[in-house]
Amino acid sequence: GWALFSVRDAENVAEGLGVPTFRYKMLAISITGFIAGIAGSVYALQVGFVTVEGVFNLTVPLFVIVMSVLGGRMHWLGPAIGALVIHTLRDRLAAAGFEGVSLVVLGLVLATLVLLAPEGLMARLRIRPLPVAATFAVAVAGLALTQVWGEPLDWVAAGMVAAAVVAFLPVPRRRLVREVVRLTADEPEADAAPEADADAATVPMPVAADAGPRDAPGAGPRADAPVVVECVDVARSFGGVRALGGVSLTIREGELVGLVGPNGSGKTTLVNLISGAFRPTAGDIRVAGQSIVRLPPHRIAHLGVARTYQIPRPFESMTVRDNVAIAIMFGRRPLALRSARHAAQEHLDLVGLADLANARPSEINLHERQLLEMARALATRPRVLLLDEALAGLSPVEIDNAARVVRRIHAAGITIVLVEHLLRVVNQLATRVVVLDQGRALADGEPRAVMRDPAVVGAYLGRAGGQAGA
Ligand code: ADP
Ligand code: MG
Repeated sequence: GWALFSVRDAENVAEGLGVPTFRYKMLAISITGFIAGIAGSVYALQVGFVTVEGVFNLTVPLFVIVMSVLGGRMHWLGPAIGALVIHTLRDRLAAAGFEGVSLVVLGLVLATLVLLAPEGLMARLRIRPLPVAATFAVAVAGLALTQVWGEPLDWVAAGMVAAAVVAFLPVPRRRLVREVVRLTADEPEADAAPEADADAATVPMPVAADAGPRDAPGAGPRADAPVVVECVDVARSFGGVRALGGVSLTIREGELVGLVGPNGSGKTTLVNLISGAFRPTAGDIRVAGQSIVRLPPHRIAHLGVARTYQIPRPFESMTVRDNVAIAIMFGRRPLALRSARHAAQEHLDLVGLADLANARPSEINLHERQLLEMARALATRPRVLLLDEALAGLSPVEIDNAARVVRRIHAAGITIVLVEHLLRVVNQLATRVVVLDQGRALADGEPRAVMRDPAVVGAYLGRAGGQAGA
């Protein structure tokens, strides 16, 4: 289910975090096709007469959607409750001769729910079970005793409507979020932190005591550290546009490589190629010695490549914590939901988002969304983390904070490729700088030396300068 949620929210992102999206989509289609096939054969046998109109009418899927939105999609019981309520209502409306109105009623119900209560009934039933049950009982009993209107099924339908109204009365948001989180955990006391959780204990990465500003950038890894990523003459064209024209690059364990270059120089394309989002048109890319150019992105993620997006792409329907937990559930060493949520906290701590764990991505600002990107990528336990302009669009204070987080991640032992416009930040952080220009590596080496390179100065100050420098 979580794989499918993540596919719905952002399929490519899910794949990049290690979710085998194709397999899960095939599974979902096969299972639902099987169920629908059985239902269809029963239906056809019973009705003895099947029309296109009766089966493929737009209202058939509409009813299914209303049922699951009304009940709540986070738990299997939700759609079941929704089906019970909607079917009873529809039946009663038809019996009362309002068949034509039932579509209008359903449309109103759907619009109201999507706007005001997208979590559905289940979560709310668990917040005030007794008042809802009491309302239902009083309404049904009242109608039965007074006999003012209708037959028994009408009383039940009226009771359901009254109970639903009570269930949907306003509740504090925090309470609601907690209930939704519990629902999806299938455990009533989820917020009691799992005590000695053996699984989770193996997960947290070594959180280095904040190393503080490292005075000597360039205090890089040894020159003979193992190679993590090796690009050999990598090229990529889009139609006639040559985004990368043969880049060779070796990244060793423990490095923090600053990848800089003017707009359109191919930085994001390189990130896309190493993470498998695109295939190179020529050349080879090896991660930990294995060629990845024919692997699907989720396999590359399992080999230890994680990336963030220039424009953050969180799973909007999940809490901040679950965004991170997904990466753990489908990572190299997958954990079950409960342990994954517990372990997610470590990564949120590392980037400083612990207090926002229960927020939705839409409720946090750009800086926090970019930190979430990092936490989510870290949760895959990467060998190498590709940060694509993780500091773009931030205020100076936020940039300093983000830089501290990057430093902390690096200090925790993760190799980083930092794509960044701000040379000041790159100079502070990077152990090595690679300059791309027009799809080629213009320079590669120790940050200060690279920045003094006339060709680099030229590329940044304009072509004319570049030619003069060259
Ligand atoms: P950077 O991240 O350094 O600003 P990009 O890697 O995004 O640069 O882009 C490099 C070049 O490739 C640009 O000319 C861009 O227009 C082109 N490009 C990148 N992605 C695509 C794509 N999906 N389709 C077509 N052209 C693309
Ligand atoms: Mg870019």
